[in-house]
Amino acid sequence: MPSDSTDSSPNLVVAIDGPSGSGKSSVARRVAAALHLRYLDTGAMYRAVTWWLLEQGVDLTDTRRVGQLAPQAPVRVGLDPVTPTVHVGDVDVAAAIRESRISAEVSKVATNLTARADLVARQQHVAAQGGVVIEGRDITTVVAPDAAVRVLLTASEETRLARRAQELHGTVDAGALDATRDQVARRDADDSTVARFREAADGVDVVDSSQLTLDETVGAVLELVEKRTGITP
Ligand code: C5P
Repeated sequence: MPSDSTDSSPNLVVAIDGPSGSGKSSVARRVAAALHLRYLDTGAMYRAVTWWLLEQGVDLTDTRRVGQLAPQAPVRVGLDPVTPTVHVGDVDVAAAIRESRISAEVSKVATNLTARADLVARQQHVAAQGGVVIEGRDITTVVAPDAAVRVLLTASEETRLARRAQELHGTVDAGALDATRDQVARRDADDSTVARFREAADGVDVVDSSQLTLDETVGAVLELVEKRTGITP
């Protein structure tokens, strides 16, 4: 059945925020693919800058140095939702930026206001071109507050912890949950000092994925896209 997506989705911006383990990356990629939009993972940008600074031996607690160097980070993110890529210069860092050592340090870069302003500007450049699903922590509020569709994807802390433990350790036993806690609770606490993603801003729709499968969560976001814009896959 013909839909109006080919006419109107090229300029569409879908903004998705959420805490760690909310499933926003998987959901955002699937939504982008369904609507033939590009996909921007802003967390990958913060991670890539962190990787680059650590590679050069920069002390991430040196606020001035981090603020000075971060804008020079040669980060390139591919916007294809099926095969998103992340490079720093010519180095493929897609796997390296997911390591625990990066997850443990990334908030130091994300809470650096100079580094943040630079990354927000790079992200706004992509948003201004339209035709993209952007996910992160401050997309609905700072990067693309005028996006046609703005979603806060939440899940209970228990669910988010279990998802990350399964992803990182392949199990949800007590040891795995403990080892994952820093990456969920501590990181969210640090990140929420600079971005408001724990509650929805005005006009932002909330999707709670605690009791939903990935397919159901994608479906719920696509329903919101249709409700807000009339666009269907
Ligand atoms: O989403 P992901 O876990 O990959 O994000 C990694 C880190 O990047 C977050 O913990 C946060 O410190 C930072 N971040 C941010 N603002 C965004 C996206 C990510 O501060 N829009």
